[in-house]
Amino acid sequence: MSDYRPPLRDIRFVLENIVDLEELSSLPGFEHVEAEDVYEALGEAGRFLAEVVAPTNRIGDTEGLTLDDHGSVTVPEEMISAYRQLVEAGWPAVKGDPEYGGHGFPGVMATAFQEMMTAANMAFSLAPMLTTSAVEAFQYHGSDELKSVYLEKLITGEWTGTMALTEPQAGSDVGALRAKAWPADDGTWRVRGTKTFITWGEHEMADNIIHFVLARAPEAPPGTKGISLFLVPKYLVNSDGSLGDRNDVKCIGLEHKLGIHASPTCVMAYGEDEGAVAYLVGEVNAGMHCMFTMMNDARLHVGLEGLGLAVRSYQQALDYARERRQGRALGAPKDVSSPIIEHPDVRRMLMTMKANIEAMRALIFDTSAAGDRSESSETDEARAAAAHRAALLTPVAKAWCTDLGVELTSIGVQIHGGMGYIEEAGSAQHWRDSRIAPIYEGTNGIQALDLVMRKLPLEDGAVVNGYLAEMEATAAGVVDGGALASLGVALSTAIEELRSTTEWLLDAAPADALSGATPYLRQFGTVAGAYYLIRSARAAEAALLSGADPWLEAKIDTARFYIDQILPQAAGAAPAVSAGASQLFAIAEAHLD
Ligand SMILES: Cc1cc2nc3c(=O)[nH]c(=O)nc-3n(C[C@H](O)[C@H](O)[C@H](O)COP(=O)(O)OP(=O)(O)OC[C@H]3O[C@@H](n4cnc5c(N)ncnc54)[C@H](O)[C@@H]3O)c2cc1C
Repeated sequence: MSDYRPPLRDIRFVLENIVDLEELSSLPGFEHVEAEDVYEALGEAGRFLAEVVAPTNRIGDTEGLTLDDHGSVTVPEEMISAYRQLVEAGWPAVKGDPEYGGHGFPGVMATAFQEMMTAANMAFSLAPMLTTSAVEAFQYHGSDELKSVYLEKLITGEWTGTMALTEPQAGSDVGALRAKAWPADDGTWRVRGTKTFITWGEHEMADNIIHFVLARAPEAPPGTKGISLFLVPKYLVNSDGSLGDRNDVKCIGLEHKLGIHASPTCVMAYGEDEGAVAYLVGEVNAGMHCMFTMMNDARLHVGLEGLGLAVRSYQQALDYARERRQGRALGAPKDVSSPIIEHPDVRRMLMTMKANIEAMRALIFDTSAAGDRSESSETDEARAAAAHRAALLTPVAKAWCTDLGVELTSIGVQIHGGMGYIEEAGSAQHWRDSRIAPIYEGTNGIQALDLVMRKLPLEDGAVVNGYLAEMEATAAGVVDGGALASLGVALSTAIEELRSTTEWLLDAAPADALSGATPYLRQFGTVAGAYYLIRSARAAEAALLSGADPWLEAKIDTARFYIDQILPQAAGAAPAVSAGASQLFAIAEAHLD
């Protein structure tokens, strides 16, 4: 099995040419950030992740986790050691608020770091990922008093965080949750309820675990309007900051899963005895609002899981394709079998992985940078525009990239032939691990509904139309002559088709819009991918003219491959967008058997 090689050149290329890190780091709040320092730090991070974290990936998958009779979860030693080193090196704090121990770098730098950490060991990466997302919600909505006790420990990763929403009857429909909260005499709260599927709900990798739990206060209205957010620590914290008694929080079950074997997915019992001591975050009944701050960040990072795993799978498949010899490629010498990388069909599989990976990275980093600009741009108008862009692109980044994560890691298995199906080869793990990402953090079906029902109508359609116009301008910019002209024409046509399905959805009856949401998201992601790759090809073309590294020629060839062989799938999705509900429901339910 090959080692992970952090794709630092590609990451830098996107930060320079798609994100414009130079401009981003000139915004207020990032005065201390130099783009070169970011690249250097990411280089160090990449080395650390490749040397320390990546080797734990297979160990975690094969050893897995155990839950003992006292509710303790045992995590492989190698992962505990890697986590301690991660915290000591300060990586979890990359984008945190400097007032609370963070380094105050742009979120897109944390995104680049997270891509590499996910590729190194996805199960491991979920602990810091969820902690960072919890920090997002907590720093906006937590009181100063609570923040003074918990925020720094969470930002530095000394303590980890969880996101506890799901209950057996409340999955996609969070509003159906039943966990209860009630005020105690001392101004704190008590929480009681069982939560299922809680990632990193219990472990000994960090000294304390801070659960962010959704529950209902007395007389709360039904549904999502009656949900409040509570901070529930595993260990209570004394007034001097030391750890006190164990709170009434227990892991009562550990799920056995298809993948991410080293990430504890816990059934958590909060407050079975006296009620778990809890602290209200934000206002009573405003929990969903707080949680959305956290979920948007988490959704983008789940999108990254599709990317990170696809990269790891690609690298492994590439190495295998260079080593494995079978058959004789056209034109190869007689009596010598050729490395399979010389066969056109294997090349096609590798190119499909490479081109999609580059498109995914550009979309995710662009979305992440829009999040940064929504906080740091100089004017209200610029901040609002960036927030809208992030809102529009987040469901696409989550769903399109995680669907592709499953498809591309499956191609990674295919490139290995029979060995791909054998666990020892390692490729199957990436595919198994990738399968959860389209499910959690809001299933991809729910992301598509979010895109169509909430994001397209933003500002009366002006947000999506602005993005379409931006893509059109790029296509028009390459249409007039030059080596990329044909790519611009193809992109222009695809954008026109996307505009047409967008308009159809904006006017459609709700049942029809809901029915077309998933194919629309696929169409949107596929066209956006082409847009980013044309931008990449243009940037590479310009750099090559000034004598840059010939490696950049690959950016142009990758864009060509994507536009010729992948972009046509967008047009294929269009008829399903506007087919309407009547087609989906044409067969009576009883006749579906
Ligand atoms: C490994 C793992 C880790 C997890 N980690 C966490 C965690 O840390 N914290 C946490 O709170 N939860 C966590 N979850 C729970 C996860 O977020 C839920 O499983 C997910 O939101 C889906 O809910 P569900 O399983 O109840 O599926 P359901 O909601 O029952 O969905 C079943 C199917 O119906 C579809 N569907 C449901 N409602 C609609 C609708 N309105 N319109 C269209 N389609 C719909 C879904 O898209 C899906 O295909 C985790 C789950 C797993 C498996």
